[in-house]
Amino acid sequence: MQYGSLLYEILGRPARARRPTHAWRYARFAKICRSRRREPAAESATLLRITRERLDWWNALADDPYVTTIDAVIDQPGTLIDGIWTGGDEVLSTIDPATGEEYGRIHTSRTSDVDRAVAAARAAARDWSRTSPSERGALLSRWAQLIFENQERLAAIEARNVGKPLSAARMNIIIAGSILAYTAGGADKLTGATLPVRQPEFFGYTVREPYGVCAIVLPWNVPALLSAANLAPALAAGNTVVLKPSEVAPLVVHALVELAEAAGLPPGVLNVLTGVGADLGAALVSHPGVDHVSFVGSVATGRLVMQGAARHLTPIKLELGGKSPNIVFPDADLDVAIPTIVRSITENAGQNCNAGSRLLVHRSIIGEVRDQVLARMADIRLGAWDEDLDMGPLVNTVQHQRVSGIVDAALRDGAELLIGGGRPQGRGAGHFLEPTVLEVADRGAPVIGQEIFGPVLTLETFSDEADALHLANGTDFGLLACVWTQDVSRALRMAAEIQAGQVSVNQFADAGVIGLPFNMYKASGFSSGNGYRALYEFTREKAVAVKLLGSRD
Ligand code: NAD
Repeated sequence: MQYGSLLYEILGRPARARRPTHAWRYARFAKICRSRRREPAAESATLLRITRERLDWWNALADDPYVTTIDAVIDQPGTLIDGIWTGGDEVLSTIDPATGEEYGRIHTSRTSDVDRAVAAARAAARDWSRTSPSERGALLSRWAQLIFENQERLAAIEARNVGKPLSAARMNIIIAGSILAYTAGGADKLTGATLPVRQPEFFGYTVREPYGVCAIVLPWNVPALLSAANLAPALAAGNTVVLKPSEVAPLVVHALVELAEAAGLPPGVLNVLTGVGADLGAALVSHPGVDHVSFVGSVATGRLVMQGAARHLTPIKLELGGKSPNIVFPDADLDVAIPTIVRSITENAGQNCNAGSRLLVHRSIIGEVRDQVLARMADIRLGAWDEDLDMGPLVNTVQHQRVSGIVDAALRDGAELLIGGGRPQGRGAGHFLEPTVLEVADRGAPVIGQEIFGPVLTLETFSDEADALHLANGTDFGLLACVWTQDVSRALRMAAEIQAGQVSVNQFADAGVIGLPFNMYKASGFSSGNGYRALYEFTREKAVAVKLLGSRD
């Protein structure tokens, strides 16, 4: 039993009806810690202090998931190695994006922890890869169940940390649990092939094997969902993991990992490092003990990660940014299209890789579409996570300055501001930005090709199908494109010609389809880790050829 899972031995699973008192829990925890302590004395003292505060936090959560995230000051260890949570002396502040106020601290990992985390993952790798796939699937199912049971609390943690409305975070948590449940069912269905032979004395087959130790580095915008999307296939396939969540919003990832421990994940199988990417992330992805790197984040960091992985020729999967167009033809059903298009750029304040950040409209309907989009944008209600309105703030000051700077530059370059562009009134130090629409006539304007990652929509017109394709394919990105038309032939022609890993027709993204891969073309990355192919991405294929010797008699 290690400290991480001790929390659960004492607390019980959060949703259980019978809850011992806090004093009882803490006394029991301290006793078990004394008997099982493995850390040097000084560090254990820090650990106990942190853990005591953390117990207060979980206690409050157990009583009311919302109260905790509002009132409790979080003082959280950021390092999980071999089942032990610790925190270094360096701390990162946790800021509520809606108020700019600190509500917690995270004790970050040290660069020396990278070696220890990789070593722990290596030590656990052989045993974990030899567990039966059904056992691993069952564990993921239990983990998914715990996520569903705790969805309100997890949603509150993610919502406050990222600044998104509570119901949006709740949906992300439900998707995270669903990804785990989906992948759990595939764990024991991953097979190779038996191959035809030229002569009967030959036998040939392939098997899929885990890589070993996987490094997973994630961004802050949808932390629970992306954790599930990468951890589920990595672990189900029999890999062990060193996970580095973003330093900007790691809280829900820590909570998810605690639930994985509660579900029975053995120590060392999943290790966590929390801290600044240029230090920890860079050291992790270039570590000689890492067998596979999975990175989700910006193009700029993706380039650095690829260079780091190249040092030891480590296989890599990259999921990067986007500049996804909604393409609206004259026969589109605007009653369906317009609300969806507006949601696609205001959800998570536009801070989604697949945000519908470009609106391409046939010139015959531009007036109608423009009016309807602006009317809907004007109705978007902004609020803090617990007000649970339509859109929250941007995640932090850096992000606010970056997005505002892009809008200012676009206006200098000749774009026309149709709505928004500024801070809303009465929101103090919150990082809010009004939903913004820029009409852009210059097809070569930088704002057309640049990922903004904020609630900023650019509007352009096209003359015919070929022109629409020319615009849609005219950026470096290739993540998602949505086609709005009721002409099935046109929809299929567009789907064939669009250079993007995902094409949606009369809907946005993968709503309604189970197991759709989250694919990427061009600078948006490669090797999707999601959907029905995900388990393959976290395995490699071994080919075996055998000559049968001897004879029957
Ligand atoms: P980011 O690239 O700044 O950071 C991502 C992660 O990389 C963080 O954990 C960070 O600490 C770490 N990191 C930073 N420097 C590093 C280095 N030198 N070596 C290794 N790791 C390093 O991205 P972000 O701001 O956290 O997230 C926003 C970006 O993520 C956007 O571009 C968005 O489009 C993209 N994103 C892509 C997907 C997808 O599936 N394609 C999903 C979500 C977000």
